[in-house]
Order: sequence, then C-alpha cells, then structure tokens
Amino acid sequence: MANLDPNMNLQSTPTQQSAIPDFTDTEVAFAHLSDQELRRMEWLFSLMNKPWLVNTGSFVGLWSVKWNLPFARSIIRSTLFRQFVGGESLLKSLPTIEKLAANNTLTVLDYGVENKETEEDFNATLRENLRAIEFASGNDHVPVVSTKISGLASNPLLEKIQRGDQLSKSEEDAFKAVVKRVEALAMAAHEKGVAVFFDAEESWIQQPIDDMVNTMMKRYNKDRVVVYNTYQLYRHDRLAYMIETAEKAKAEGWMLGAKIVRGAYMEKERLRAKEMGYPSPIYPDKPSTDQAYDDAVRFLVENYTTIASCNATHNAKSCMKMAAWIDELRIDRDHPHLNFSQLYGMSDHLTFNLANSGYNVAKYVPYGRVEEVIPYLLRRAQENSSVTGEMSRELELIHTEVKRRGL
Ligand SMILES: Cc1cc2nc3c(=O)[nH]c(=O)nc-3n(C[C@H](O)[C@H](O)[C@H](O)COP(=O)(O)OP(=O)(O)OC[C@H]3O[C@@H](n4cnc5c(N)ncnc54)[C@H](O)[C@@H]3O)c2cc1C
Repeated sequence: MANLDPNMNLQSTPTQQSAIPDFTDTEVAFAHLSDQELRRMEWLFSLMNKPWLVNTGSFVGLWSVKWNLPFARSIIRSTLFRQFVGGESLLKSLPTIEKLAANNTLTVLDYGVENKETEEDFNATLRENLRAIEFASGNDHVPVVSTKISGLASNPLLEKIQRGDQLSKSEEDAFKAVVKRVEALAMAAHEKGVAVFFDAEESWIQQPIDDMVNTMMKRYNKDRVVVYNTYQLYRHDRLAYMIETAEKAKAEGWMLGAKIVRGAYMEKERLRAKEMGYPSPIYPDKPSTDQAYDDAVRFLVENYTTIASCNATHNAKSCMKMAAWIDELRIDRDHPHLNFSQLYGMSDHLTFNLANSGYNVAKYVPYGRVEEVIPYLLRRAQENSSVTGEMSRELELIHTEVKRRGL
C-alpha cells in the first residue's frame, strides 16, 4: 500500500515461508480481545443472529436517534458502534488503530458518513477526507484513506453524465467542482505519502467515477501507487475492464491500483435493470461471480510488479487462494503490492490469521459521530443476522474461543 518504498526493487526476493494461515485458529483470531471484550462480542453477535430482533431493533434504533431520544445514542454507542466503528473522530479512533497495529494489522480510514446531497455537504466531506490524509501522513499504521465519490458529488448529476445528457450551465459548474474535489484528494495523498481508495458504486454512476479515477491514477501512480480504483467482480464486464485498464497503464507508463470486491448492490442493480428493461449487469449466479473473482485475484498476483492490489473480502476461500498463489509464485508475503482487507469488527479469523502468517492486511475502519454512521451500522447488523436461522460463522468461532479460554 502507501508504505511502498519508491526505491524498492519490485522484483522481490522470496523469503523462507512459514505455514499457510489457519482460519480456524481462534486463539490468533481473538488474541486482541480481553475475556470481557470477547464475552461482549459473543453477546452482540448472538443478538444479531436473530433476524426478527435486528429488523425490529433497526427500525426502533433509527427512529430513536432521529427523534433524539437520550438513551438511543448511548445504547448504540456501547453495542454496534463499539463493534464496527473506530471512533467518533480521527483522534478518537487512535486507540483502535494502535490496537490493530499491535496485531500487525494496518488501518484504512473510512469517513462513515453517507447520503449527502448539497454542495456544502460535499465540501465538508472533502475537508474531512483531507484531514484524514493529513492524519494518515503522520501515522505509519494508516497507509490509506478511503472515499466514495457519491459523498463528493450529487448522484443525479453523475447519472446524467453517464447517460451523456446535455448539462445545464449550473450542472457543468457543479461537475467542475466535483473534478476539483477528486483532484484535491489525489494531490494531497500524493504530497503526503498516503494512498487513496475510491469505492465502487452503482453501475449507473460508475463510468464518470472510473473516468475521474483513471485520470488521477495516470497522473499520480508513477513512482508509487497513490490512487486505487475499485472493481466489482459481480459485474460481468469488470474483469475484462480491469485487465484492459492494466494494459493501458502499462502502455502509458503508470501503475494500476486495483481494489477488488464482489459488489454490494446486487439486489438494487437487478431490480433497476428489470424495471427499466435492460439486461442486468450482474452475473446470474454466485459461482459465476466467484469464478470471476478468482480470475481477478490470480491476474493481480501474477502482475504484482506493475499492479498494487487489495483483495477486499470476507470470503475465506478468496483469501486462501490469494495466499496460496503468493506462495506458489514465491513472492514475499509482505510485498507492498499485495494486500488483504476486511471491515473493522468482522472476520477477525481472516484478518489476524493472515497477519500472523506475514501477509499484509488492513482493516477498513469507519469513523464518524454515532448519528452519522447509523446507516452503516444497520447494514453491518443486517449482514451479520442469519436469514436461515443458522449460527453465523463469526458466532461459531467466538463460541469456540470462549470455550477454549474456559470462560
Ligand atoms: C474492505 C472492504 C471494502 C469494500 N468496498 C466496497 C466497494 O467499494 N464497493 C462495493 O460495491 N462493495 C464493497 N465492499 C463489499 C463487497 O462488495 C461485498 O458486498 C461483501 O464484501 C461481501 O462479499 P465477500 O467477497 O466478502 O463474500 P461472499 O459472501 O462470498 O460474497 C457475497 C457477494 O457475492 C455476490 N453474490 C451473492 N449472491 C450472488 C448471486 N446469486 N449472483 C451473483 N453474485 C452474487 C454479491 O456481490 C455478494 O455481496 C467492500 C468489502 C470489504 C470487506
């Protein structure tokens, strides 16, 4: 990631490799938690395992905060917020960052505020992202700041640009301001020795995002990778697009920064395609997405000298495959171009076992005030609630560790 040494020899020398990570090793997975913290996590994940409770709790929680009920904020702060958010501000996230660092895990800072709509909001997000870059430049454990262009621009405007509609004068001015915000972030990251991840979003606004991020990668990814775009492998056109962009980068003499994800908006994408009568951009089934994901991982590992990548997933198989391919190609496990990432508060069995085996791992750590990160927290609660009623993998592992510690 951004701790990449510009003078390093990109052709890495293989070192003696230790055993491959064991994702069932709960001792390593939860070593960062005291007995009390582990118990609290067990309690929270048990609650989240009840879908009816998550659905009712989400509804009540959202309205209680909206109505400013005094107890709501403190309940959320001591439960979901504590589990999934680094802190209410950059400074308040420091203990989280340090705890992760003590367990060989880096932090990707992610300002968790969503659904912004006014120019004032977009400028406020920009200022916060710039503050995060400044903060990261002074902290070796934070090599990357993550951002969403929909937090810096209006969605209807991005959609209009993607459709190729004629823009009014005020829309043209608004778009110029968006480009300036994106440029300001990339330039600050470049100057401060930090990297910036641009998230992937809905397919109907992704093209202007790709265009802006590609321009920034071409401008700044010369000596090191400063800017990363995100590729959603549930889209059937994305693997080819990522490879095409990598070839373009090679031909033009810059390095690609590629964060890969499966994609977060599947239902929304399919619904819109159906309603508007165009073919869905999403693969028809999970195995097809998984195959594209594997192919993308293999491509990134094989091309590690010219592409810096981040495998952002909670899928154990995808992590294991990347780890095995890194070893198979005899690449150093801590090569700065090969990274893994999970969300803070989730999949600790992947993060800390990968870190323990010497691979580069970072947690995506969102931060922001309780009322600002509610939508993010509700999504995490939904994601961790089991629709089938089966115990979640996470909860199963926590139980195993509680038993192992004899608690
Ligand atoms: C660090 C981090 C950063 C992220 N950043 C982004 C981002 O910038 N943009 C973004 O969109 N998402 C992002 N995500 C979320 C990501 O896209 C996935 O939604 C989430 O991680 C679940 O996928 P998985 O690979 O972890 O695991 P899995 O549980 O193996 O995969 C679930 C995913 O598979 C796909 N899928 C499921 N069923 C089907 C089906 N029937 N047909 C086709 N595909 C299917 C969907 O994408 C679904 O989310 C990020 C995730 C992490 C961990």
